[in-house]
Amino acid sequence: MPIRDKLLPYGRHWLDDDDIAAVGRVLRSDWLTTGPTVGEFEGAFARAVGAAHAVAVANGTAALHCAVVAAGVKPGDEVIVPTLTFAASANCVRYQGGRVVFADVREDTLNVDPAQVERLITPRTKAVVAVDYSGQPCDLDELGELCRRRGIVLIEDAAHAIGATYRGRPVGAIADLTAFSLHPVKLMTTGEGGVVTTSDAAMARRLRAFRNHGISADHRERAAAGSWEYDIGELGYNYRLTDFQCALGLSQLRKMKGWLDARRHIAGRYQNALGRLAQLILPVTLGDRESGWHLYVVRLRLEQLRVDRKRVFEALRAENIGVNVHYIPVPWHSYYQGLGYRKGDWPVAEDAYARMLTLPLFPRMTDQDVDDVVGAMTKVIDHYAT
Ligand SMILES: *Cc1c(COP(=O)(O)O)cnc(C)c1O
Repeated sequence: MPIRDKLLPYGRHWLDDDDIAAVGRVLRSDWLTTGPTVGEFEGAFARAVGAAHAVAVANGTAALHCAVVAAGVKPGDEVIVPTLTFAASANCVRYQGGRVVFADVREDTLNVDPAQVERLITPRTKAVVAVDYSGQPCDLDELGELCRRRGIVLIEDAAHAIGATYRGRPVGAIADLTAFSLHPVKLMTTGEGGVVTTSDAAMARRLRAFRNHGISADHRERAAAGSWEYDIGELGYNYRLTDFQCALGLSQLRKMKGWLDARRHIAGRYQNALGRLAQLILPVTLGDRESGWHLYVVRLRLEQLRVDRKRVFEALRAENIGVNVHYIPVPWHSYYQGLGYRKGDWPVAEDAYARMLTLPLFPRMTDQDVDDVVGAMTKVIDHYAT
């Protein structure tokens, strides 16, 4: 008998009637896109993460692409990216013709290892994309110091980490450029959406132009000047976010504090209950930072089990627990294999990949849901323990 009769997903967005009403108000207004709600959302997001500038874009991948452009990455430039992340963290470098140099991760946090980054820096290194894996900020002071000394731009992929803090500072106010995702499975949503934050006014201007075909001044400045003129300074894209999506973003942003508390409560419950299972390695959060808890990732001590991760995954799915795996090492994908990367070059990330499972974690989960996951995990682990 499965523990649950219906699948508990690993993540799920939260929409209330007031979110829907906020979108409806903008849909009935004059501005569906490039209107006042975009700037309002950008201002609110910037305040929430303590950033000077926030630029809203079409999705998190576009946010990363914009950041790579603002960092000045050109064909042949090298950009260091962790192995254990969603492919977009590396794909954004390829969009500009850059070379991705994959770095291994730390064994404890699974965040990029600053010592590995230092070893991989060459005179061609233009930027580092540091990913806050699962929501825990990476070693931003160490990485920032490495980058500053050599004139390298630090881009933080904070798709998992809205609301996370590092040494008392909010993620979004620390790296040269920080990219966020507003996809429904992430911490808050606009359907599709993304934001880039920076404290650098020149970079912010470049981001705004790049998301709008490369057009340097927006249409309202032109209208105010009574002119049709505009100029395209560099090639851009249409990466704009609509006003009704920004209305959803404003409404969701007001609930972030409560959602973060709920995520932390669930993660705490998992830590207490799953700590009893010797066959699991639980997530480690370092004392000087607070995770946004996008993902709760456990690793299996395969030496103490009779089966591999695939079997445990299938058994938990059979219990209707929507476990997942984050992530297949990026250089293992056929596209990257075709570029010449070789499996085995990132032993820590690759070993972690063989052992990992993401457990359900989203604010609407009840304590009973959490207990179901713990019950199913205990049942499966006890069954397969050596
Ligand atoms: C989700 C995600 C992205 C991409 O965000 P989208 O909004 O889906 O384009 C980038 N990096 C990481 C680490 C992610 O998890």
